Amino acid sequence: MKKMMKKLALAVACVTTVAMFAACGGKEEENVIKFGTNAEFPPFEFVAANGVIGEYDGIDMAIAKQIGDEIGKTAQIENMEFDSLLLALQNGQVDAVIAGMTIDPERAEEVNFSVPYYTAKQVMIVKEDSTIAKATDMADKKIVVIQGYTGESCVKDMGYAYEAFKKGSEAIMELVNGKCDVVVIDSATAQKYVGDNEGLKIVEDAEAFSSEEYGIAVNKKNTELLEQINDILTKMKNDGTINELSAKYSEQ
Ligand code: GLN
Repeated sequence: MKKMMKKLALAVACVTTVAMFAACGGKEEENVIKFGTNAEFPPFEFVAANGVIGEYDGIDMAIAKQIGDEIGKTAQIENMEFDSLLLALQNGQVDAVIAGMTIDPERAEEVNFSVPYYTAKQVMIVKEDSTIAKATDMADKKIVVIQGYTGESCVKDMGYAYEAFKKGSEAIMELVNGKCDVVVIDSATAQKYVGDNEGLKIVEDAEAFSSEEYGIAVNKKNTELLEQINDILTKMKNDGTINELSAKYSEQ
């Protein structure tokens, strides 16, 4: 009886979560590559009616799809908070993280990064009539950042007080509603938000914000996948695919 209960418990555990499938040796997992992302970062990842991978669309999602196609696996997306992504990678819950993630030394201690595939920088989004013209003008202003993004560490390093929101869209609403003066976020995403909301503009300060490069993160143990991803990304950069995807999703 005890044995049977054990078996039953195991069977239940196996079907309750997809993650458990791998642990139980389920075949379904073999032809799948799971990418972790935070689908709150247009034009790189967002939820759409007809996404390139299910309900997920954007530059990164198209890259993930192509990686899957080229290594002969179905790309699946696990959507989670940005802050949880690297932990999920280390736990084996996902195989790779593609999330407009900036390659930085702190993160690189935890995971391996692919070759860079996109260059970005932090910018300030302000109301059209704002007097903020450079980063130091933010000193006495109400600053909003997104939790765990590189924008947060930039503002922290500048020594300014700020409020951190979980989603870029929430941060933008604060600005639109006049509850804050400036949102610091990545350039391409800022362009999207400014295009989608009336009365906002982007202020750049190249001296204050250095350029950043996005990479795909892979578990340190999975060097084989890292090599495959590097080969595919290099090809996609060289043959113009990444530029085409950036143009396509930025214009939308
Ligand atoms: N590039 C920023 C970072 O890595 C933001 C990424 C994101 O929100 N998806 O922190």
